[in-house]
Amino acid sequence: MHFIRLCNINFKYNYTPFLFIILPGSSTFMDLESISQAFKTTINQKVVEHYFIQNIKGTKVGICNYGARITHFIILDSEYQAIDIVLGFNDIESYVNANEHYHGATVGPFANRIAYSKFKLGEKEFELNSNDGLNTLHSSTAGFHNKVWKVINISTNEICLQIAHKNLSGGFPGNIVCSITFTLTDDDELVMKYHAKSNQNTVINLTNHAYFNLNGEGNSDVLAHVVKINANSFVEINQKSIPTGKLKKVDLTPFDFRAFKSIGNDIEVDDEQLKNGNGYDHSFELNETNNQLNFAAAAIGDKSKIKLEVYTTEPAMQFYTGNFLNGKDKGKSSNFYGRRTAFCFETQHHPDSPNQPQFPSTFLAKGQEFISTSIYKVSII
Ligand code: BGC
Repeated sequence: MHFIRLCNINFKYNYTPFLFIILPGSSTFMDLESISQAFKTTINQKVVEHYFIQNIKGTKVGICNYGARITHFIILDSEYQAIDIVLGFNDIESYVNANEHYHGATVGPFANRIAYSKFKLGEKEFELNSNDGLNTLHSSTAGFHNKVWKVINISTNEICLQIAHKNLSGGFPGNIVCSITFTLTDDDELVMKYHAKSNQNTVINLTNHAYFNLNGEGNSDVLAHVVKINANSFVEINQKSIPTGKLKKVDLTPFDFRAFKSIGNDIEVDDEQLKNGNGYDHSFELNETNNQLNFAAAAIGDKSKIKLEVYTTEPAMQFYTGNFLNGKDKGKSSNFYGRRTAFCFETQHHPDSPNQPQFPSTFLAKGQEFISTSIYKVSII
């Protein structure tokens, strides 16, 4: 049986009631404070911290400052059972040693791929560390997912974290100060507000890499989840997942998610783009690109009837169906995360934008502020 029991014993910092929880698939009683304790360590002389933020409905989101990660997203399902809808682990060692590096992480300074690990700003060329063949993926090991962020502020339902990127770390120019604030509203929206500023001209592209399984993490594949994406076109990629530079209309392709369709409906169709991505692993150009918070996508777990909606000020969203999850990571409920047992909705600018002048620009001028907001909203239908 899964249940949660709240005892009004406050602990450390006086902001989170002591919560006992039996997580799906787990046979042991776990309290959230013990989970947070299991994250206590230092990495590169920086203290790793872990917190749960929560709202009035009893929704809890676990955040770790190693990678500014969402570690847990626990909601009460239609039968008031606790269900955790993101993949991840209950301790820091598992994140550090994980086969998949980006579980729940805030990715930057440049999310997604940059072709041949280089780009030019004016006449100056910047060479990046490669980590995906000849290309750079998610800023390589120099990325924000791999750093211990500073916790700036924490309250019952909000946490703000900050990271300082050193000029030319991983090859990216500028001393960049970046922050993210996670706020959990009483409407079950996890609002992510990103901010960045650089002392030199640079490029920026930030996202969150939460892997969702809306039937509960550790469940089988997500092929029966239904998905809707507010996009008439997507970025065509080559066999190395690098944009060709062309946008393709979704009409009459497996990429038409303008009405709800199951992930598995067309994923095995004989299609060059699906082959190149090993499934869905493409940047969709959102229909509204006016810098306002617009509806980007939604998904519904077939078993749980939990719905996730995504809103963003970003012009694009990478829809990734966990094609490279390889069953090596043992997750929170002791199940191994196999291929397509989760999906990601990564709001962002298109991959390789610094080399593709026709894409919305990722250029951030010296001293200018970068601001971006994305929301994961959950509900039960
Ligand atoms: C990319 C995938 C990649 C994954 C790594 C996603 O954002 O689109 O191609 O394998 O990140 O976790």
